[in-house]
Amino acid sequence: MSLERIISCLDGYDPDALHVAKAREAMRACMTPIPETEVVPVRDALGRVLAQEIVPTIDVPAHDNSAMDGYAARFADLGRPLREIGTALAGKPFARAIGAGECVRIMTGAVMPQGADTVVIQEVVKKEGERIVVPPGQKRGQNVRYAGEDLKVGMPVLGTGKYLRPAELGLIASLGIGEVRVRRRLRVAFFSTGDELASIGTKLEEGEVYDSNRYTLHGMLSRLGVEITDLGVVRDDPEALERALTRAAFADAIVTTGGVSVGEADFVKTLMAKLGEVLFWKIAMRPGRPMAFGRIGHSFLFGLPGNPVAVMVTFYQFVRDALLHLSGRADDYAMPLLSAVSSEKIRKVPGRTEYQRGVLFNDSGTWKVKTTGQQGSGVLRSMSEANCFIVLEHERGAVEAGEPVSVQLFEGLA
Ligand code: AMP
Ligand code: MG
Repeated sequence: MSLERIISCLDGYDPDALHVAKAREAMRACMTPIPETEVVPVRDALGRVLAQEIVPTIDVPAHDNSAMDGYAARFADLGRPLREIGTALAGKPFARAIGAGECVRIMTGAVMPQGADTVVIQEVVKKEGERIVVPPGQKRGQNVRYAGEDLKVGMPVLGTGKYLRPAELGLIASLGIGEVRVRRRLRVAFFSTGDELASIGTKLEEGEVYDSNRYTLHGMLSRLGVEITDLGVVRDDPEALERALTRAAFADAIVTTGGVSVGEADFVKTLMAKLGEVLFWKIAMRPGRPMAFGRIGHSFLFGLPGNPVAVMVTFYQFVRDALLHLSGRADDYAMPLLSAVSSEKIRKVPGRTEYQRGVLFNDSGTWKVKTTGQQGSGVLRSMSEANCFIVLEHERGAVEAGEPVSVQLFEGLA
């Protein structure tokens, strides 16, 4: 089905004044995840998307064991002095069962001896010769970790579409599993367009700028964990652009920068209509108003604006989520919007979503945010100085100092 047909079913779709949320919804409606999978060793599965269910065939832990260093005994016996009959270490269980009035010295992680149901921590017991005296106030079953309390045989623990972080690698390893099936990596090709672009290593002629967009794109795509192909700089020339797009169409997605603004789009539109189906949008946002989205062969095309900050904003607000969707992720990967207090007045008019570059900081316990100053879409320094976007919603007007605003952090922990 054509993209136009799929998207025309969404209410309120207006390509010339597209709400940010509607643009996201439109992309989402057009894309289905890539189906191909491969099997990789657990370590290589970091940052990949699981393509199988993980169902434990063992309990973790496999045995009841002690959560502390201390003495294992029968709870019913704790009221009288106990006789120490041996030691249980992690990996070296005490071989016999304990009987009435007996206890075993036990270390964290050691298997609970048969007959014992409770562990008393070593710090509270008194040793009187051979005898161990336990103070009152202990609870039955305390300081014991039960078999299967982490993972249970037969209870599915990870499903298809799960994004694999360090915790999942450890969890899979804890089941003794050495290899997992994951989706193959997404293939993304990208290039910059513009007659004014000079490559690093050449002398800058009058009116030229060095092509920085390919470097930010290299960084952003690499961090997403996709396989990247850099197709260089392409001149504003229909034949060169046609060659580049045809070359790029092997990929699952193509990302380009420049050439989609009103002044430039005409030959691009004609050419794209010939090669595939591409929609040209004016998104109600700043920065990043013009953008193209479409399909060339089996490849999805993201035609980003040329301004360096607009490239980054449109990448993070649209391309990131679209690529994660394509890669098969089924978790909620949208970057959360957190609330912070604006430490200053911010100019804004209703009717577009703005992504100002902000610095989130702690002021005596309160998280506050200020802008990085100059917000021009060519000021890439603003992205470098920032640690978050200040997201000013579509309907919102000017912000007064002290008002809460939404922020989206650049870094994530795990
Ligand atoms: P465009 O969207 O092609 O009209 O470009 C808008 C602005 O972004 C112009 O000032 C371009 O010089 C600048 N620009 C476009 N592509 C790049 C690039 N790859 N690196 C740095 N600046 C660029
Ligand atoms: Mg251009």
